[in-house]
Amino acid sequence: MRSKSTRASPTQPSQGILTPEQERSRIMSLVKQAHTKPEMVVRSLLHRQGYRFRLHRRDLPGSPDIVLPKYKTIIFVHGCFWHRHPGCRKATTPKTNVDYWRTKMAENVERDERKTRDLTQLGWQVVTVWQCETEPKHIEELAIRLKQLLPVGTGG
Ligand SMILES: [Zn+2]
Repeated sequence: MRSKSTRASPTQPSQGILTPEQERSRIMSLVKQAHTKPEMVVRSLLHRQGYRFRLHRRDLPGSPDIVLPKYKTIIFVHGCFWHRHPGCRKATTPKTNVDYWRTKMAENVERDERKTRDLTQLGWQVVTVWQCETEPKHIEELAIRLKQLLPVGTGG
């Protein structure tokens, strides 16, 4: 889906001939906007289904986005672009500054793997929710997936 923000502003007539710095800040701002919302979607979905959770627990590796102590479960909400959702069409690579992006993304993926490993070793179930799963057309499937991972009536 095309978001409103992809439309170039009138002050930028030379679209397509961005300097690497312009390209970088353009993508940064797009990604930043896209980032906050999916987590909110997941939070309100969990809330509606009656799950109790805590946010950004700093005492756990990677200070996870959403923590459900009762289910010993951690949910990370990941942007498809930054965290390289496998096979997702949002996980594009910008055409300029390829090395910069590759490195940055590889670091993200590595950090995600490390966090998951550390948390799993501490006995947590780690669930990754991808940004594209939080889109309205996929939200139902996501709700079902979460319900299966977090069966009501189990846990403490
Ligand atoms: Zn995706």
